Amino acid sequence: IPVIAANRIATPEDAERILAAGQADLVALARPLLADPAFVNKAAAGRASAIMPCIACNQACLDAIFVDRIAGCMVNPACCREQEFVAERAAAAKRIAVVGGGAAGMACAAHAAERGHRVVLFECNGALGGQLRVGGEVPDKHEFFRLIEAWQQRLREAGVEVRLKRPAELLELMAERFDSIVVASGVRPRRPSIPGADGPNVVTYEQLLTGQVEAGPRVAVLGGGRIAFDVALFLVAAAPGAEDPQLRFRRRWGFDQDGLRPPQPDSPARQVWMLKRSPEPFGKNLGKTTGWILRRELKDAGVRQIPGVEYQAIDGAGLTYRLDGADQRLDVDTIVLCIGQDPVNELFAGLSARGFDVHAVGGARDAHDLDAVRAIEEGTRLGLSL
Ligand SMILES: Cc1cc2nc3c(=O)[nH]c(=O)nc-3n(C[C@H](O)[C@H](O)[C@H](O)COP(=O)(O)OP(=O)(O)OC[C@H]3O[C@@H](n4cnc5c(N)ncnc54)[C@H](O)[C@@H]3O)c2cc1C
Ligand code: SF4
Repeated sequence: IPVIAANRIATPEDAERILAAGQADLVALARPLLADPAFVNKAAAGRASAIMPCIACNQACLDAIFVDRIAGCMVNPACCREQEFVAERAAAAKRIAVVGGGAAGMACAAHAAERGHRVVLFECNGALGGQLRVGGEVPDKHEFFRLIEAWQQRLREAGVEVRLKRPAELLELMAERFDSIVVASGVRPRRPSIPGADGPNVVTYEQLLTGQVEAGPRVAVLGGGRIAFDVALFLVAAAPGAEDPQLRFRRRWGFDQDGLRPPQPDSPARQVWMLKRSPEPFGKNLGKTTGWILRRELKDAGVRQIPGVEYQAIDGAGLTYRLDGADQRLDVDTIVLCIGQDPVNELFAGLSARGFDVHAVGGARDAHDLDAVRAIEEGTRLGLSL
């Protein structure tokens, strides 16, 4: 009987390996073709590195289907909406500055340059990616780095001039006389007005995930959104060790070739509490197809979740909060802020006041409910319309 192998065959190399080893007669791809419909043509032409990768997020495809929305793709906003995203050659080549090399800026710069514009992409950090690079540090999100690499290659091929370690400034942008300027400068983590929140034991999710600070053994995570869940997972995750990753996965989730076994999760690396102000249960807005994994990981790691709190004060030894009318004390070494983000868009007002053709996309336009799906879609739409 011919056997077709499917699921998470993400690259031509994966497919080739399965076929060459005789593990299956055929391979079937689904999500990778949503992310890049030219997957097969690029592989056949020896341009596998130019394939835009599916990162297995399920956000715009499967999660959408399960709530009765049309399937799409984070990486490829044109998926299932091809007639809305038509790439036409620009009538006249413009000089365009894109400020910010996060998801929105990379998507915008690549699409604009592919249409014939001359694009300069400013990024104040030493590498492109923005929040995607921060998210890529979370266990199970390392594929974000593949996505950044794919955008980088696309930017190179489209001839975008990338200026790293260059915070674009108002006067410089004005002096270079760009025809259009795109502000894609993203977001910064929000700081709360809790007394003591400026202490050295209080850090943002960005400082933690990028390794600028090391958390202590007992940690409070403030916030209940997706980033707070990711941070909690990062904090409890044990170092991978020498165990084979596949065997580790099977042990953790409880199965092997012979069937089901009792799951054996790793011991948590830290003791973690999650707190949030809203009384809603934690994790209500996590994706349908992946949220259960996060919830289960944190439950197995003994993470305590406390909704409906009023933060009172932070000091060197931890946090005081109010719950059901009574003051409570939580002694922790580190407090990680995941309480939202604010837009970084000061350039927008300055440029538009001076009459420049200026646009804002992604978090710089609106930080509320921001995710990479929206950032990439907004960047793509603008890149196709400039
Ligand atoms: C831990 C974590 C996990 C996440 N997980 C997911 C997920 O699973 N799914 C999802 O959809 N989203 C996820 N996100 C959110 C997603 O990564 C962001 O919403 C999205 O990438 C934001 O893109 P952006 O381009 O709008 O902004 P940013 O990523 O903030 O990019 C802005 C860029 O502009 C640069 N910049 C700022 N000012 C200047 C200047 N003056 N000059 C030059 N450069 C400048 C910054 O350095 C930055 O690189 C996650 C985020 C985090 C932190
Ligand atoms: S939405 Fe995510 S999982 Fe679905 S096809 Fe696109 S990249 Fe892959």
